[in-house]
Formats: sequence, C-alpha cells, structure tokens
Amino acid sequence: MNIEALARENVRQLTPYLSARRLGGSGDVWLNANESPFDNDYTVSGNRLNRYSTCQPQALIDAYASYAGLQSEQVLTSRGADEGIELLIRTFCEPGQDSILFCPPTYGMYGVSAETCGVNRKIVPLRDDWQLDLPAIEQSLDTVKLVFVCNPNNPTGNLIERRDIERLLEMTKDKAIVVLDEAYIDFHLEATSTDLLARYPNLAILRTLSKAFALAGLRCGFTLANPTIIDLMLKVIPPYPVPVPVEEIACQALSAAGLARMKFQTLDLSANRAYLQAGLSMLPGVEVFDGYGNFLLTRFPDADALFSALWDNGIILRRSPIENCIRLSVGNREECEKTLAFIRQQLA
Ligand SMILES: *Cc1c(COP(=O)(O)O)cnc(C)c1O
Repeated sequence: MNIEALARENVRQLTPYLSARRLGGSGDVWLNANESPFDNDYTVSGNRLNRYSTCQPQALIDAYASYAGLQSEQVLTSRGADEGIELLIRTFCEPGQDSILFCPPTYGMYGVSAETCGVNRKIVPLRDDWQLDLPAIEQSLDTVKLVFVCNPNNPTGNLIERRDIERLLEMTKDKAIVVLDEAYIDFHLEATSTDLLARYPNLAILRTLSKAFALAGLRCGFTLANPTIIDLMLKVIPPYPVPVPVEEIACQALSAAGLARMKFQTLDLSANRAYLQAGLSMLPGVEVFDGYGNFLLTRFPDADALFSALWDNGIILRRSPIENCIRLSVGNREECEKTLAFIRQQLA
C-alpha cells in the first residue's frame, strides 16, 4: 500500500522549513541560527513530573506580563513563538478559504505553517528599503485574516516604521489581525508595539525566550494580545503545552536576577554586533546592513564562494535568499573575531 498517497495533498507538496539544524554542517563556530552564545545555568526540581502541567502556569504568565508591562489576561504562553504562529492560523483561518499575508524577505515559518494548515498565502514583498508596501497590502486584503510583520525583521535586521504599523492596523480594523513578530525586540525594546494593544483590538504580538533570553532549547514563547484574542487561542491550544521543567526554568529567566542578566548579555552582544559591523564594513565590496537583532545581514561580492569557504573551515553561517547576502548571528567576541579574521583573509 502506498502510504505516501494517504497523506494530505498539501503535505505531500510541502517543502518543510529548512532550519539551521536541518541544514547540518560541522565546525566550532555556529553563527547560523541566531542563538545566544551564553549557556546559562538553571535549577530544575525534577519533582511534580507524575502530574500533568498547568495549561497556562500563572507564575509564568504573571512574570512575562510584568516584563512586557501588560495585564496577565493579555498573555498566552506556547512552545516557542512558532507555536504561536500556528495557533493564530488555526484560530483565525478557515482552511481552503482564508489567507494569511506576509512580506518577504521575512521569517519562513508564516508560509510553512499556513501551508500545513491548508490556508492560502498572499505575498506582498517589502519595498526596496525593506519597509511595508502599504498600498499593495491594501489591494491584497481580500480573504486575509492575518497579516504577519516581523519587527525587527529577520533576515534583514531592520525595524519597520512605527507609522506604517499604525496605518496597517487602521487599514485592517474589523477585517484582519496584524501579527507583529517581536522575536528580536528585546535587543531594542524601545521599538516595541505593546502600547498599541490599548488602541487596537486587532493586534497580536509574538515574543520568545529563544533569542535575547538565550533559551532556544527551552521552547518557550508568548503571544501578547487583548483577552478576546487570547481566549480564542486558548480554545485551540493543546491541553498541556508547557512542560513542568520549562515553567521552572522560564520563571527563573524572568526573575529580577534573570532579567538583569538578560539585559547585561544583550548589551554585550550589541557591542559584538557593532564590532562585527565595523570590521566587515571596512572590507572592500562588503555592505553591512544596520541590524537591530542579534544578527547582521551582509552583502559580499561572491556570497556563495565565501559561504562555502567558511563552511569548509567550520564556520557555519546562514545563506540568505537575498542576492549575495549572508546572515551572521552575533556570537561571543572570540567567535566574532575568528569569523571576521577568516572573511578578511578570504577577501584579501
Ligand atoms: C527565532 C524566531 C522565531 C521562533 O521563535 P521560537 O520561540 O524559538 O519558536 C519566530 N520568529 C522569528 C522572526 C524568529 O527569528
């Protein structure tokens, strides 16, 4: 029997998200997945594991609400921001009927999640300056229930104009939810849009502990929105999305000491980013784009050749779909120095 033929048509057609992990590679400098170089210590009790976890552990919800400056009713926690993306799609989009809209170059999971759910994708590329093409978005809103905007955007690294975010929220009022993906906002918190939740019931914001909080392996993320949206998502979320040890570790990360450490580490990484940016900018033919997350998008004269040379020498970066661009995660100073020195020597 042909098991392949049993699978849903859209699953058979699906190209899975090519995560940095799936792409493989071997070496000792890993700057391809926007992970943090800080391996922080946590304590796990190892108790309570005979019982199911709480669906939305109150201590964790309260801690994140306090960090975000919101009410606990405006916070939902899930297995990473990625699960938040999927929950939003499953909550708001009728398969085969509704659409999501997103603006490449941007994060790949919006499209992949929609595809697995059988939801249409409308693609309105960013303008040449990597800002929203609002007139084109307005033209495309028919059947759209969710508009995904990543701020700061991955992989370009730039911030989306605040004015445009507000215009988009106005434009979609009573029509669609605007989902702002703030996975990297902790590196530049002054650009957050959480204050807009008070004015716009059609706003949802995604957050994660994977980047600035250095907990990519924990799988813990958040959706920030008004209670109506949160309550709808709670109807769709699996019953036990937060493993007990995840709750324990996430609460430590969000304690006063945890937050202080996160702040210290993001400042440290921002200094390394400035070091990398300055060093790369000095090389002939290299263009480094301003970045507000823990990564830099950089254009090289021959990105394919450079990427392979780096790869062969154990420096694993991420090739971006943007012409001749490579995305470099900001590692510790030693990793940044090693990477910069290698690139400098290759381009010499
Ligand atoms: C890393 C990343 C995510 C996923 O975050 P997780 O919490 O690890 O699932 C979501 N959006 C963007 C833009 C990211 O770069």
